[in-house]
Order: sequence, then structure tokens, then C-alpha cells
Amino acid sequence: MIRKLLRRVFSKAPPAHKPALIPLVKHRIRRESISPGARQTIARLQEHGHAAFVVGGAVRDLLAGIVPKDFDIATDATPEQVRGIFRRSRIIGRRFRIVHVMSGGETMEVSTFRAGNDVDSETDAHGRVLRDNVFGNVEEDAARRDFTINALYYNPADETITDYHHGVADLGQKTLRMIGDPRKRYREDPVRMLRAVRMAAKLGLVIDPAARAPIREMADLLENVPAARLFDEMLKLLFSGHAVECLRQLREEGLHHGLLPLLDVIMEQPLGERFVWLSLANTDARINAGKRTSPGFLFATLLWHEVLAAWEARKKGGEPSIPALHAAMDEVLDIQGGKLAITRRIAADIKDIWILQPRLENRAGRRPLRIIEQPRFKAAYDFLLLRAESDEQERALADWWRVFLEADTETRLALLTPEKKPARRRRRRSKGSEDTSAPEADA
Ligand code: ATP
Ligand code: MG
Repeated sequence: MIRKLLRRVFSKAPPAHKPALIPLVKHRIRRESISPGARQTIARLQEHGHAAFVVGGAVRDLLAGIVPKDFDIATDATPEQVRGIFRRSRIIGRRFRIVHVMSGGETMEVSTFRAGNDVDSETDAHGRVLRDNVFGNVEEDAARRDFTINALYYNPADETITDYHHGVADLGQKTLRMIGDPRKRYREDPVRMLRAVRMAAKLGLVIDPAARAPIREMADLLENVPAARLFDEMLKLLFSGHAVECLRQLREEGLHHGLLPLLDVIMEQPLGERFVWLSLANTDARINAGKRTSPGFLFATLLWHEVLAAWEARKKGGEPSIPALHAAMDEVLDIQGGKLAITRRIAADIKDIWILQPRLENRAGRRPLRIIEQPRFKAAYDFLLLRAESDEQERALADWWRVFLEADTETRLALLTPEKKPARRRRRRSKGSEDTSAPEADA
């Protein structure tokens, strides 16, 4: 115990390393760029005598001229102290304990400065750090962060940035530089390899050669990372607004093949390659235009060509079309769902989109009027547009739907093609009822 303590004190006496204090005139981030909730939270912590800063992605993004998606706060107050200051707050997290502070409609993540890993940190057999929950000072907190551009501390009170690792200069020079020895940092946490690629793609940075070179040789370490964490990281990557660029770079760094099941699905698609890349580009465009996206939609595109192949095989084997589609969907989701850690909810969304595809082809009678009332219609229609764009489905069908959806009610009625069984149609009309009878139960 005492030896441990001594080792900590002596081995880690951090080099008295003076940070740069960068004033407003140099960085031009006014406190008004920080969300009101984050400003208030920081002010309260400071009133209670604590140090508190905006940290991480938000400072970096503001410097790069990007609107931050959230504002993380770092402080020297312990989680219990933070909890004591804010009535509307709760302690969360297992790996790291952090506090969620609610202010107005915002939820801020407040984390206590943490010291990095030392010889005492618990690791797995490959050197991956399993826990790092030792509190530290701000300098130690900066040193345990991954890249220099992610270790910037902004204080709204005086509008300065504290910069221990030349992050501001690196960002200005468009360089992504690892703090410390990249090999050591990748061994501690292999996910940093994926983060490097994502950050570089998002911000248009070049990965510093010292951080880039080891990726290829250390890629295998990703195998030891729990599947759920990899899945989260892949979601961040796919929904970064720069998925196409990220994946291009991952491929270049040798980070796909066999390591990340999801990437294999994307990159080893002999049939659907064009469709998958179109869909990724489409996701990027939607995110950058501030439109909604969903994992269900994206995964539905990633797996669609596997479903098509399985569906085709079953139809060839004599199964009727719609039951064959259902069986093909289950088959593909059974195999991929587990491998990719797709949750049940996402799987349900995926199926909704797939099931509607053959129904969009069948335009007889009043079906189109009914199908547009389906909750997942819009997603299914967007999916159809992508299929047509990749020439897997007829463009004429997508064009018909486009015209139909833009038309007024009268034109829509004129666009409907006659029902194949006119006798029945007349009977239903005369009843004036919602037509739910058998001939139109089209799925
Ligand atoms: P964004 O949220 O835009 O994807 P971010 O940099 O905020 O980017 P987060 O995952 O939210 O990324 O992490 C917040 C901060 O925590 C980072 O800026 C970085 O300082 C630190 N961090 C996150 N993950 C790691 C890691 N694996 N190793 C070291 N530091 C990390
Ligand atoms: Mg963040």
C-alpha cells in the first residue's frame, strides 16, 4: 500500500509543464458560444470555489468553426460534491462516474479531473486499461486525453483557453497529434485508432505520422475490445456526417478486414457495394443538412443485398414471395444481428422498412393511398429512392411515387391504376367502408 503510494508520488510527479493561457483575442471564442446551461453550471461550480471548464470536443469544434453537439464540463469537484451543488443532478456511469446536471432543457456531463494510467492501472493481458477512475489535477486530466486538440480547457469566466499540449497550434496546422507515445496510448485503449480516423475525417486533419504509422500493425488489438463499445464507436463514425470519408480512411489504414464485422458488411459487398456507398453518402448529406437519420434505416441499407440474395434463393426454391421475404429477413438478421450487436428495437425498424418494399411495387387499386398512412412509409420511400438510384430497382417506380406524393388529391386519384378485380372493387366502394378486405391485404 505504502509502496504503491510512494511509487505514485515519485513516478508520476508530473513535469512542471506550464500551459499556454490563450486569450480571447487569439481564439475569438466568446462565452456566448457556450450553451446557457453549460455557462450556468460552470458559474455555480466556480462560486463554490471549484475549478470548472468546458472541455473536449466542444472547444475543439468551436475553434474549427463547427457548432458543438454538446458541452462537456470538467471540474476538480468530486461527483459527490457536484451532486451536492445541483439539485437536478444524478451520478451515472460505471467505467467512469460522471454527473448529469440538468439545467433548463439541457443535460450537461460533468466529470471530475482524472489522472491518467500508471503502472498500477488494471489492464487486460494485452495492456488494455480496464479502469481509470483515479482523480487528478487539471494537468493530469489533460495528459490522459487522447489527442492534443481534445485537451483544451475553456473558462467562460475570463474567456481563456488553457492548452497544455499545443492543441490550438496543432488544430491551426491541421494536424491530429496524440498526447504521449501513440503505441502506448493505442495499447491502453485500441478504440483510439478508430477515434483518430474519425476526428481526422471530421475536421479535415492529417494524422501525424507518429500516430498514423502504428495503426496498421496494432489493428488486431481491436479484437479484444468489447463488442458493445465497438458498436457505439461505429455508430459515432457512421453518424459523424463524414462516414464516407471515415470509411475510406479506415480502409486505407488497413482497419477493416475481419476486425469490425460492420465494416466487413460494408466493404465486402460484391452485390450491393454501390447501394451501400450511396446510402452512406446520403446519410452524410442528411446529417450535414440537419435532417433526421436513424440507425434502422442505415442498417436496413447495409444488409439489404443480403436479404435480396436470401429472398431470391427461397423464391427459386418454390416459396411464395412474401413468406419468402419474411424468412429471408429473419435469416439475415439472425446472422448479422448478433455479430453486429443490433438491438431488438433497431431490428424492428429495419424490418418495417424491408417489408414495405414489395408493397411499394404493388400500386393497384387504392393501395398507395393506404400505404402512405403507414408510420414507416417515409423511410421506406427514401429507401426505394436509393434502390432506384443504384439501379437495383426500376427508376420508373421511384418516379411514379415522387409524382404521386407531390400531387394533390385529385391528381393522385387519377394516377391510381385500376384494381385487377373490378367486381370486388365496386362492391367495396358501394359499402363505402375502409377497405381492409382480403384481396388488398397485400403483405
Ligand atoms: P465528439 O463528441 O464530437 O464525437 P469528443 O472529442 O467530444 O468528440 P467524446 O467521445 O465525447 O468525443 O469524448 C470527450 C473527450 O473525452 C474527448 O475530447 C477526449 O478529450 C476524451 N476522450 C474520449 N475518449 C477518449 C479515449 N478513448 N481516450 C482518451 N481520451 C478520450
Ligand atoms: Mg463529445
